[in-house]
Amino acid sequence: MLPVNEIFETIQGEACKSGTPSVFLRLQACPVRCPWCDSKHTWVADPANQVSIAEITAKVEDTNTWAMMSPREILLAVQGFRARHVVITGGEPAAYDLQPLTTLLIKSGFSVQVETSGTHAIQVHPCTWVTISPKIGMPGGLVVLDEALRRGNEIKHCVGKPADIEKLLALNIPREFMPMIWLQPLSQSRKATKLCIQEATARDWRVSIQTHKFLGVR
Ligand code: SF4
Repeated sequence: MLPVNEIFETIQGEACKSGTPSVFLRLQACPVRCPWCDSKHTWVADPANQVSIAEITAKVEDTNTWAMMSPREILLAVQGFRARHVVITGGEPAAYDLQPLTTLLIKSGFSVQVETSGTHAIQVHPCTWVTISPKIGMPGGLVVLDEALRRGNEIKHCVGKPADIEKLLALNIPREFMPMIWLQPLSQSRKATKLCIQEATARDWRVSIQTHKFLGVR
């Protein structure tokens, strides 16, 4: 059983899967505590905010309500959309054992992606695409795990200033395990975008822009 904050259809706007019609499954609870987090309503799975599955599947706003759902109930919900790519996000989805859910979704014909901070061991079906957005030195006190980095298919790193590049380099990411690193300009600022272009060009990395914001979707 997993605590689900929301399920909605959109276009994946970031990194390698950018442009892919996707069903986003947002799980509740995250201990990482990034100060700039735009999903603070997902941080705590407060029993007082538990609601019915029907309320969660009908939800259209960012709120701290959540419902406990089994993998089969989640499958039924995502089958109600047209997209055949499922993005499991949070919150921190890797805080949970995602083997049963990712296996069921993949065996049912979906491709599956997990977006995680890299601070937890990643328990997923081997065909799951794992995007690590490393959260380094956050107030929650968790560290980015080597085993998470080794499981990642790509890294997506938000960059606002040169120190953000230094933090990423300090992880000593093994290149043989990490074929693609995406730098994502913070808030699409001109300065951050210029820095991302410079660093990506110098290091043969990539630049990820949040295309969903240009498309005007969530
Ligand atoms: S890991 Fe994600 S959900 Fe958790 S605090 Fe950081 S930005 Fe927010």
